[in-house]
Amino acid sequence: MSVAVVGAGVIGMTTSVALKTAFPELKVHVFAEDFSPNTTGDGSAGLWGPYLLGDTPREKVLKWAGTTHRWLEEFWRTGRASEIGISLLPIYRVTSDPHGFPDSSWTKLVYGAHRLTSKDLTRLNEEYGTNYKDGWMFVTYTSEPARLLPWLEETFVASGGELRRRKIETLHELIDDGYDSIINCSGLGARRLAGDITVTPVRGQVARVRNPGEQSVVFPANCVHVSFRSSYETTVLGGTHQMNDYDCSPRKEDSKFIYDGCCRILPALKGVTSIKEWVGLRPGRPTVRLESEVLESSQGKKFTVIHNYGHGGSGVTLSWGCALDVVAIFRDTWRLKSNL
Ligand SMILES: Cc1cc2nc3c(=O)[nH]c(=O)nc-3n(C[C@H](O)[C@H](O)[C@H](O)COP(=O)(O)OP(=O)(O)OC[C@H]3O[C@@H](n4cnc5c(N)ncnc54)[C@H](O)[C@@H]3O)c2cc1C
Repeated sequence: MSVAVVGAGVIGMTTSVALKTAFPELKVHVFAEDFSPNTTGDGSAGLWGPYLLGDTPREKVLKWAGTTHRWLEEFWRTGRASEIGISLLPIYRVTSDPHGFPDSSWTKLVYGAHRLTSKDLTRLNEEYGTNYKDGWMFVTYTSEPARLLPWLEETFVASGGELRRRKIETLHELIDDGYDSIINCSGLGARRLAGDITVTPVRGQVARVRNPGEQSVVFPANCVHVSFRSSYETTVLGGTHQMNDYDCSPRKEDSKFIYDGCCRILPALKGVTSIKEWVGLRPGRPTVRLESEVLESSQGKKFTVIHNYGHGGSGVTLSWGCALDVVAIFRDTWRLKSNL
């Protein structure tokens, strides 16, 4: 039996690794226009935390994000953290919204989460000159994309999977090529490939700078700064979230917004050496789409597509949980026994 996975971003690659782990004999080929280091996840901060997920039901977010957190934890616990560039970081996630966080159920998945008291908030606001109304302090993982994505590709290829660079015009062409099943992990590309106009870009600009020696992360709207343990000299600053914006060039005004916002919180960044500015388009959607659909090929043959796209600002955070759900749907569709 053969499967074509479309997409080699963090979603396509975790899905492909999970499929080969669950069904070692399965022929799995990944088709993509872009591979690492040119996918959306490559430029991301790789920080665990549900973000920009529209109305995706809370129980699904908790399930997928929780499974991924435990997957990262397993690397950490077994001394394999460096394989996928994991760091364990203290985070302040804060907001200036007077209503606070609409949903903080995910805080039960991380370590040592506690809500900031009004005294904590006052201290932060005095220190940073901010106006935070609510916040959480906790410890969680970041997985450095420059390690995670190559690890996924290498693990997949070592298990017998194949990577093929090709633009897919329609999902049907893969069935005409002889594949039995298709997994659609095309991110923003699903807008065209699945004809899904609800998928829209959420533009994100970030900056990579020399690490000023800071290890904690403060996460308000305009400044996240993440330092990677495995390449300690780099810190990611940013970023923006501009809806329905396809512009992939860094903008001066966004650079200033990020730099000023981060310097206010972390004065040690003033005058820091910039390494690179980067823009990525998050695959925004009202909800993550993870489900199967039966389509018909040009020869009238019915086939199953499993869609796994629309992960907004949380592709890394949800990746392994979503991959295991694809495995479960695939197993039930084909009535197979799985190792996972
Ligand atoms: C600035 C920024 C910071 C972020 N920070 C974080 C973070 O800290 N934590 C977190 O969890 N998430 C973060 N994200 C979000 C995360 O990066 C995305 O959710 C995730 O990368 C989406 O992965 P994907 O595999 O669905 O899409 P992509 O990485 O975009 O991959 C899509 C794949 O499909 C292929 N493709 C599409 N159409 C076709 C076609 N027709 N034919 C062939 N191939 C096709 C592409 O070539 C590519 O390989 C961030 C995003 C940005 C922009």
